[in-house]
Amino acid sequence: MQNFTFQNPTKIIFGEGQIAALGERAWFVFSGIEPNPTYETLMQAVALAREKNINFLLAVGGGSVIDGTKFIAAAMNFDGEPWDILAKQAPVRDAVPFGSVLTLPATGSEMNNGSVISYRAKGDKLFFTSDVTYPLFSVLDPTTTYSLPPRQIANGVVDAFVHIVEQYLTYPVDAKVQDGFAEGLLITLTEVGPQALAEPHNYSVRANLMWTATLALNGLIGAGVPQDWATHMLGHEITALHGLDHAQTLAIVLPAMLTVRREQKRAKLLQYAERVWNITEGSEDERITAAITATRVFFERMTVGTRLRDYQIGGGSIDTLIAKLTEHGMIALGEHGEVTPEVSRKVYQVAV
Ligand code: ZN
Repeated sequence: MQNFTFQNPTKIIFGEGQIAALGERAWFVFSGIEPNPTYETLMQAVALAREKNINFLLAVGGGSVIDGTKFIAAAMNFDGEPWDILAKQAPVRDAVPFGSVLTLPATGSEMNNGSVISYRAKGDKLFFTSDVTYPLFSVLDPTTTYSLPPRQIANGVVDAFVHIVEQYLTYPVDAKVQDGFAEGLLITLTEVGPQALAEPHNYSVRANLMWTATLALNGLIGAGVPQDWATHMLGHEITALHGLDHAQTLAIVLPAMLTVRREQKRAKLLQYAERVWNITEGSEDERITAAITATRVFFERMTVGTRLRDYQIGGGSIDTLIAKLTEHGMIALGEHGEVTPEVSRKVYQVAV
């Protein structure tokens, strides 16, 4: 239990004004929730929160802290082994209420009920959702992002971009509003992403980035339309096995995924090419290829490598990645359920 502090009160993390905002409430700090938050760490928080009879949680941080808080909130009152919430998708009917103060625009966790947790000892990275794990409120102040390292800004832009693509780039269902929103968010990211790296203290850029990342995964653009999420599932296995950042795995998998499934996604890829990247010249196949290339170039412009070899990973781990996907039941992914382990293998191979 050396990774965190749990004390009352502390001024280690918060400024005076933020502490004052807590008023007369009794409060404690649990710090040390890591990127790709682990079951091991979070269960320490659960034990202490139970011991202190905590009745409200406030997540101050990025998606990992908010996802971790959702799990703590769900596990505190869970009857049984809390890992079952993830491994067996055991229903969560009761959770301690929580809010969030977002400091890292990326995951959208501040306005949804999803959470992704890793079990380091098992090499697993799994997700859960529940109707009772929405934040009661979230505070989004773009100035809290000024001090973020460039790598976290770049990762946030890529993660938000891929969240939108997972809900947009499937097949047409005449959902004009969802498509229009998604395309607007994608175009915004192509504009503000590089600006956010170049001008860390530009309020307007950071505000637009923060709001885009939230809207990318708050349910709005995904309502009533087919969704994919295969890129995320394949990416999670890379993080679990090799420890790469979440967004790095997405930057690796997405271009390969679109390449392997370009026929199934043909109509939407053409729409994406025209409306997001303004690609209107050439044959259909040339436009699709150009759109996939533009996606890869954008990620690389954000300084995020798009191939496994960029992270010194070869094809030798593909068998393990496929075995883990299969173990986790990820054998019919994508909007048509057509991403079998064989298709996933092709994606990983293209991504090398
Ligand atoms: Zn993500």
